[in-house]
Amino acid sequence: MKQASPKRILITGAAGFLGSHLSDRFIREGYQVIGMDNLITGTLRNIEHLFKLPNFEFYQHDVSKFVHIPGHLDYILHFASPASPVDYLRIPIQTLKVGSLGTHNLLGLAKSKKACILVASTSEVYGDPLVSPQAETYWGNVNPVGPRGVYDEAKRFQEAMTMAYHNFHGVDTRIVRIFNTFGPRMRLNDGRALPTFIAQALRGQDLSVFGDGQQTRSFCYVDDLVEGIFRLLHADYSEPVNLGNPDEITITDIAKEIIELTDSTSKLVFSDLPIDDPKQRRPDIRLANRLLDWSPNVSRLNGLRKTIDYYRLMDKIDLQETTQIYFKGDA
Ligand code: NAD
Repeated sequence: MKQASPKRILITGAAGFLGSHLSDRFIREGYQVIGMDNLITGTLRNIEHLFKLPNFEFYQHDVSKFVHIPGHLDYILHFASPASPVDYLRIPIQTLKVGSLGTHNLLGLAKSKKACILVASTSEVYGDPLVSPQAETYWGNVNPVGPRGVYDEAKRFQEAMTMAYHNFHGVDTRIVRIFNTFGPRMRLNDGRALPTFIAQALRGQDLSVFGDGQQTRSFCYVDDLVEGIFRLLHADYSEPVNLGNPDEITITDIAKEIIELTDSTSKLVFSDLPIDDPKQRRPDIRLANRLLDWSPNVSRLNGLRKTIDYYRLMDKIDLQETTQIYFKGDA
């Protein structure tokens, strides 16, 4: 009997933090994975172990330009986008373009291939929220013209465009609203709180806390997020779904946890809060729990231990890394 051919999935942003973990997971599940990335914030190092596999292909391409993939496609995961404030403040136009034009291109591809597409949205669509925890029914409190607007509004547009393709063209779509996620392969210099604190603690430098450090975040370990995304892709639900870990902590407390876990002698130093920095972040995950039978399994402390071990294993050059890997792409 002829064996069924493996499902083909296109993963944009495959060389980034989340895209590389998703590529690993879908390869493990027996999919044919096509990675696509323009390497503006990602690195081939995250996926170099996949290049030798027959069920992995890679295209270096900017998805804000026309995207073509030969052959059939069953699924698309659209994860290409700068994701940390340091990145999107430095490349604001590319950030807006990949959330809008890039999403449009991939929705068009999904339509023509009759593929199911899942787009990576973010808790930042809730802006600086006036309610906590944030449920999918909350419309958010976003400043469109503030510095973070380039990311937040690109993602809000992405959601609107995805719903329009679903409602108007009948494309099979999924929207995941991802809350802060952490784990191995985050860039140490990407400006997000956790990698910055870990790098500073391992280097014996003081940890730079913004504001009074009383703002909260809720951190989800990457394996839990990947599991949730895998389940959502295979669920029949096109409205947005929050995925994150509701275990909320202040920035000061997590900085102290990292100092303890790294046996560091570093201290905390406080500086001004960036404009429009959200004061609280905590996902309401009741929908994901009901719909996907999903909740996070990895505690923050265990996740932090695994992440710190990964960074300890990286060689000294990585720890000293100061240069950014930006291409001078079109703005
Ligand atoms: P990342 O920067 O590590 O990965 C993003 C990848 O997309 C990079 O490899 C980058 O080179 C690529 N990319 C960017 N613009 C591109 C373009 N125009 N064409 C092709 N490739 C492009 O970030 P991440 O943390 O892995 O985030 C991945 C996705 O998840 C993003 O869409 C982000 O908005 C979303 N997200 C992440 C988090 C988180 O906590 N990590 C939270 C919310 C949402």
